[in-house]
Amino acid sequence: MNPPFSRTCVVKKIAIIGAGKVGSTLAQMMVERNVADVVLLDVIAGWPQGIALDLMEARGILRHDRTIIGTNDFADTAGADIVVITAGQPRKPGMSRDDLLMINSQIVTQAATQAVKYSPDAIFIVVTNPLDVMTYLTWRVTGLPKHRIIGMAGILDAARFQAFIAMELGIAASDINAMVLGSHGDLMVPLPQYSTVNGVPITEVLDTDTIERLVNRTRNGGAEIVALLKIGSAFYAPAASIRLMIEAILLNEVRLLPCCSYLQGEYGLSDLFLGVPTWLGCQGVQKILELSLTDAQSQALLECGEQVRQNIDQLERLLVEGKLS
Ligand code: NAD
Repeated sequence: MNPPFSRTCVVKKIAIIGAGKVGSTLAQMMVERNVADVVLLDVIAGWPQGIALDLMEARGILRHDRTIIGTNDFADTAGADIVVITAGQPRKPGMSRDDLLMINSQIVTQAATQAVKYSPDAIFIVVTNPLDVMTYLTWRVTGLPKHRIIGMAGILDAARFQAFIAMELGIAASDINAMVLGSHGDLMVPLPQYSTVNGVPITEVLDTDTIERLVNRTRNGGAEIVALLKIGSAFYAPAASIRLMIEAILLNEVRLLPCCSYLQGEYGLSDLFLGVPTWLGCQGVQKILELSLTDAQSQALLECGEQVRQNIDQLERLLVEGKLS
């Protein structure tokens, strides 16, 4: 029996494609924030339905009022305001994110193509690795405007840098703002001069060797967790990072966050998606901020672009040959 009251028309809707560790953790975080209803989709029959029911049963205890539906049918995602793509395989120990390119290209093509059919007005947040290339692929196969396709990685990488700085100094992580640009991989570019403790650059409170050590740990932050978990990769901090993006968009907060955004000449790079400081609000990407960087940082960003470009070229070949559908 249908309930006598329906309020779905006034509540924002998020579709999460992929109900694995990242997707299901994000679903939990989103409903507990009471900001939007969630549709959780996966290819495994019963799995997203089970998670959704479990989360629905926690509602009364946790005192939130959001609805969560689990499904294997893209029709249930129709009319989503935001689509999050987490479908795909995570890394195994020893693998680089780029090793996932072939398998996840198929999955993301299928997921994005289906999702956009039912939610043509949605903003897409891409999470699947290799992140920068999967964000490009989502843009290519959905045909959506560039400002409505955004990859999540920089917030996570910055959160890791933030955590390591806080642990080193023994202070509150919330007092630290960190900035990390570039690709989501070993070549990422943490920016110490734009990373601060309540406005004070970390270069004032940490010596160069310590900063270098924390920068390297940030670059290997994902691999460090993969090596510990052995099966699967990080999901709590990734889900929290996606949550931040969703709230910036749904609440039109217009926050300056490192996001994987489409570049058209900024930082000397064009026609690819890469991590850059992005003003994020209800339209998606409102604007990209060009920071002044050291020569070494500018060069490092160009190298990220070079590596992403090679993977994009490989993708374009697969698309032209009709191998992705
Ligand atoms: P997971 O294996 O726990 O979950 C992936 C889920 O996707 C599985 O439940 C699987 O059944 C589902 N799936 C596969 N094909 C699908 C399809 N066609 N449609 C719908 N669902 C499908 O993995 P996870 O830990 O949740 O990670 C998901 C992805 O996110 C991985 O590629 C991982 O590398 C990536 N990731 C990215 C970041 C980032 O910073 N961008 C952080 C963490 C994880």
